[in-house]
Amino acid sequence: MARIVVVGAGVGGLATAARLAATGHEVTVFEQAGTVGGKLGRYVHDTPAGAFHFDTGPSLLTLPEVFHDLFEATGAKLDEYLDLTPLDPIVRHVFPGGGTALDSCADPTEFAGRVGAAFGDRAAADWQRLWRRAARVWGASQRDILRRPIDSPLDLAALAWRLGDLAAIAPGRTLRGLGRRHLADPRLRMLLDRYATYTGADPRRAPAALVAVPYAELAFGGWYLRGGLGTLADALLTRCLDLGVVVQTGTAVTRIDAAGGRVHGVRLAGVAAPVPADVVVANVDALTLYRDLLPSPRRLAGLTDRSLAGFVLLLGVAGESGLAHHNVFFPRDYDAEFDAVFGHPGRGVRARPASDPTVFVTVADDPAVRPAGHEAWFVLVNAPRHGTATGAVDWRRPGLADAYADRVLDVLAERGADVRDRLVFREVRTPADLDAATGAPGGAIYGTAGGLLRPANRGPAAGLWLVGGSGHPGGGLPMVTLSAQIVADAIGPAWE
Ligand SMILES: Cc1cc2nc3c(=O)[nH]c(=O)nc-3n(C[C@H](O)[C@H](O)[C@H](O)COP(=O)(O)OP(=O)(O)OC[C@H]3O[C@@H](n4cnc5c(N)ncnc54)[C@H](O)[C@@H]3O)c2cc1C
Repeated sequence: MARIVVVGAGVGGLATAARLAATGHEVTVFEQAGTVGGKLGRYVHDTPAGAFHFDTGPSLLTLPEVFHDLFEATGAKLDEYLDLTPLDPIVRHVFPGGGTALDSCADPTEFAGRVGAAFGDRAAADWQRLWRRAARVWGASQRDILRRPIDSPLDLAALAWRLGDLAAIAPGRTLRGLGRRHLADPRLRMLLDRYATYTGADPRRAPAALVAVPYAELAFGGWYLRGGLGTLADALLTRCLDLGVVVQTGTAVTRIDAAGGRVHGVRLAGVAAPVPADVVVANVDALTLYRDLLPSPRRLAGLTDRSLAGFVLLLGVAGESGLAHHNVFFPRDYDAEFDAVFGHPGRGVRARPASDPTVFVTVADDPAVRPAGHEAWFVLVNAPRHGTATGAVDWRRPGLADAYADRVLDVLAERGADVRDRLVFREVRTPADLDAATGAPGGAIYGTAGGLLRPANRGPAAGLWLVGGSGHPGGGLPMVTLSAQIVADAIGPAWE
């Protein structure tokens, strides 16, 4: 049995803790915030009409099998804890120039039919060809990448990829390039491009292999958790506590002690005595780990390409809007948005909030999250991370957040979703707020942007592991949960 400290109670930290406790280890989780869940955050706003409940982070759950596996591995059934509800449409995409809408769904034949009805037979045939290729990429990634540690480019190169897989993965091609090659309709290309942002990346630079992301969503479905996605954090916490994990919130780890090439424990803020540990699992961003907790210049050097962040509005809305659960309102010029939010640090072009951004709106049809006759809107826009570097924006600049919130509401109105006269209240969450709440540097959602090779799960000292969205195999709830599985499997059960 090892004494294991987990730093951070995000989904990755809690999932690793539960798995390790279920295999006989003594596990303590230290979380700097007052609550668990990390980016899977929640917010409740009380009004005379009743309470509005918001998920402030994830609103879409994909790859449900990953979560079933997690609960099973800890000796429980997911259905006893969570109420998974399939979504159709998964996302309603509204395109510029006439507002044509395309509803995605988890039935490939039905979806191709919807593409045909919206954009014509040629577009449907294009999509089906891309889909076959995506299936090959998904098959190869989930066999070779998503469930095993990848420590270096050599590991990636050494994978016994079949020739057909390699041709489909097209290592040198970008997601944008793949769209150009397969999809004649610019609206379908936009739809494909958007999946780069699921990993915090610019589609013009993200690898074509990210075509596996829409495949996972459209093959296995998009899901809502009744009561809000935050119920996942409650369920994971309950599993941890039932398995004997000690979870200490309001406790920041300031340093990881390592000597002689292995970890010995952690230091806590305001506590003189070190906490000994045989194994430390860091669920913090890789940048925090290698800059602050265990400085490691070599590991730090690979973390320059930061992911985008998000600008969020939480809206209490009177009446009913007729929107789908998830809605994406695309802009006329998608490239202008990417140019704005990433800037071009190499050429000295500063990042800035996009003036005409894509707007993502989630409205859950769930009486548990809003008073009768009202809706709780979660509005998300891609945004530069917080900071003073060329690729960032100082979101604390007086007046900026409010002015941009006004702009986003105007953009929504221009695209047919005018909610300005029905607002009961509005709350703004900038990338700087996400940084303050969850320790994500600059509010970057996914650590580094895109890429197949992300920071390794195995740390530079023996007994140190990195779990979560900034590391391998990537961000998003299912990937983070898979990273927990990779790390727990690599540590092994107490009895081995
Ligand atoms: C706006 C937004 C929308 C998103 N939408 C989706 C979506 O629809 N679907 C999806 O699957 N994913 C989505 N994601 C991504 C998803 O939320 C994340 O990938 C995932 O929750 C990250 O989990 P994690 O394990 O990396 O930990 P994190 O959530 O990053 O948690 C890390 C934890 O470590 C704690 N911590 C940090 N430093 C210290 C320290 N020094 N000591 C102790 N504790 C510390 C933090 O407080 C935090 O609780 C979204 C994220 C955001 C922000």
